[in-house]
Amino acid sequence: MALKNPHLYHLHISSNSGKNYQKILDKITQFQASNPKKKIYMMAFGNTSQPISESVIDAIKEYTDILSNKEKYKGYEDVVGNLQLRELICSRYYQPMGVTLEPSEIFIIDGAQSATGNISELFSKKSIIAVQNPMYPYFIESNLMMDKTRIVTLNCYEKNGFLPEKPQQKVDLMYLCFPNNPTGVTAKTNELKSFVNYALNHQSAIIFDGVYGKFVRTRDVPKSIYQIEGSKKCSIEINSFSKTANFTGVRLGWCVIPHELTVGDSSPSELNQMWKTRYKVKFWGASNLAQAAGIAVLSQRGQEESEATIQYYLNNASLLRKTLEYLGLKCFGGIDNPYIWVKGRQGLSSWEFFDYLLENTGIVGIPGCFFGTCGEGYLRLSALGHREDVEECVEGLNNST
Ligand code: PLP
Repeated sequence: MALKNPHLYHLHISSNSGKNYQKILDKITQFQASNPKKKIYMMAFGNTSQPISESVIDAIKEYTDILSNKEKYKGYEDVVGNLQLRELICSRYYQPMGVTLEPSEIFIIDGAQSATGNISELFSKKSIIAVQNPMYPYFIESNLMMDKTRIVTLNCYEKNGFLPEKPQQKVDLMYLCFPNNPTGVTAKTNELKSFVNYALNHQSAIIFDGVYGKFVRTRDVPKSIYQIEGSKKCSIEINSFSKTANFTGVRLGWCVIPHELTVGDSSPSELNQMWKTRYKVKFWGASNLAQAAGIAVLSQRGQEESEATIQYYLNNASLLRKTLEYLGLKCFGGIDNPYIWVKGRQGLSSWEFFDYLLENTGIVGIPGCFFGTCGEGYLRLSALGHREDVEECVEGLNNST
């Protein structure tokens, strides 16, 4: 009897992302073996580099006292998340951007990664799912793993500023990610509104990955899908503390399922309650230690420290982008988001451009083809590293001219 999950098995042996990661690592090993004295500037992965801020570390230490104290000890808590944290997400994250949400619409998660795929369990296996191309590859892979194979792509081309085309057919779910990983581009209010209108007209749901929302500095660029009128009727938003508070290892985020959300045959609050049921069956809540840390991030001081972190990464991005542009490379992103999307010179393929940059500058990015066919010819660089490395790299680039 074939016992293995065929979809997971197929993904395991054919996974594009897995293979490409390995190829990057192999190329670095090879390069280092033949150039032992040359420095590598690792800008491939979206991992954070800065320590967690002081006030948050204090809160973590305080909470470990609770966990170690017989009288104060806390075990299982509300599966959907700590109420104070959910209230703070409403009042400190959404309210300042003019969005009113209730704590009962917020679900705490262990980082955005698991939720981006899991959320699709709310919808039928037959759903037609649209994803941007290029896109964060796990949107597709997590759905395939669940045997959800009716996937179409919304192509994003340079001539349209890497904004997705509208679906050519009726789709049930649309994954949208802005500010975008990998292209770094943002969508203005009217552009996001056109997707909300499509969703409302076609009874589709938008799954909005807004994990880089707090990085937005440009006017008229929404940080959240809920800044668009009517979006609560059709949109779920997924968010994270990973990049804004250096929580990539702590693992904390949230997901919003508005009571107003009514797509297809669902009635008000139904999807919200269904998600709660799923929590009770499959997820008994995020770590209470991580949630205590999240509460500290949303305190007045925590917010100031988080802003400083974001600005640090944005300054890295700006430094890098300006230098690459000065050298004549065409760049996107890196303004409202920590990723820079660089176009390869003279029609180089993504991998050729990867090799070129590695050999000539020591910079390691991710070939754009990793993120979908429309990423061919580009490379994604992450500015989430250390400033000293970015400065050293930039100096080397300037000296090379
Ligand atoms: N969504 C996007 C677009 C991301 O870039 C990432 C991480 O890089 C994630 C989700 C997952 O983040 P988390 O660390 O919160 O799981």
